[in-house]
Formats: sequence, C-alpha cells, structure tokens
Amino acid sequence: MNKIEHIGIAVKDLDVSTPLFEKLFGSACYKTEEVASEGVKTAFFKTGPNKIELLEGISEDSPISKFIAKKGEGIHHIAFDVTDIEAEIKRLKAEGFVVLNETPKKGADNKWVAFLHPKGTNGVLIELCQERGE
Ligand code: ZN
Repeated sequence: MNKIEHIGIAVKDLDVSTPLFEKLFGSACYKTEEVASEGVKTAFFKTGPNKIELLEGISEDSPISKFIAKKGEGIHHIAFDVTDIEAEIKRLKAEGFVVLNETPKKGADNKWVAFLHPKGTNGVLIELCQERGE
C-alpha cells in the first residue's frame, strides 16, 4: 500500500457542506461527481498534498445514507493508493482480511476501488484505489 489517497467524509447535504469545506480550506471544490452505481454524490477538495472527498447518499438505501442514519455525519473511510489493486486484494485476503469487492469496481475520480470490511480493521472502513488510466 502506498500513501493515503484521500479521506472520505459522509455528509447529509453537499449543498451545505461544500461551501463549508471551501471556507475551511480556503480553496474551491475542484470536482463533483455522481457515482450512480454506489448511490452517492461526491465533492473533492485539495489541501496541500492531501485530498478530501465528501459523500452524500442519493437515496435512503445508499450505504452513505445508512451510515449517517446509524452513526451521524463524519469520517466514513480512509483510502489508500495501491499500484496493483488485484494483487493487493489477493494479498489482503490471504492475510485474513474481509474484502468486500473481490473484483475492483469503478469509483469516483477515475479510480478502481475495493473496500475492506471494517470489522477486520478496528472499525475503520478501508478503501483501496488505483488510478484507472484512460
Ligand atoms: Zn473514497
């Protein structure tokens, strides 16, 4: 695993949270994207070398809406950049981690992504992501 690629934060309403985080960082959101397959709308921010992703559920049964119903708004996942996501999935499975996506899926911001179940990682949802290329 390489560096932290981004930190994901679950929010109820991007229209409220986007201006709030723009004020916090002193810089504009550089990208918004809806990932219909995941039931989310996302907004991305850069602070120096770091990236923050805000996520809003687009329906009641979206994983983000369910997360907020259970735990409230807040940090949802930490994403790590990996060079070879399929090799990393294989490695982590062999180490006993519960991989939620055996086959990487298309995530926001041009990435292949896969998640690890938080029950195997001290309650922290871990996202693996690899740049998709063109
Ligand atoms: Zn993410």
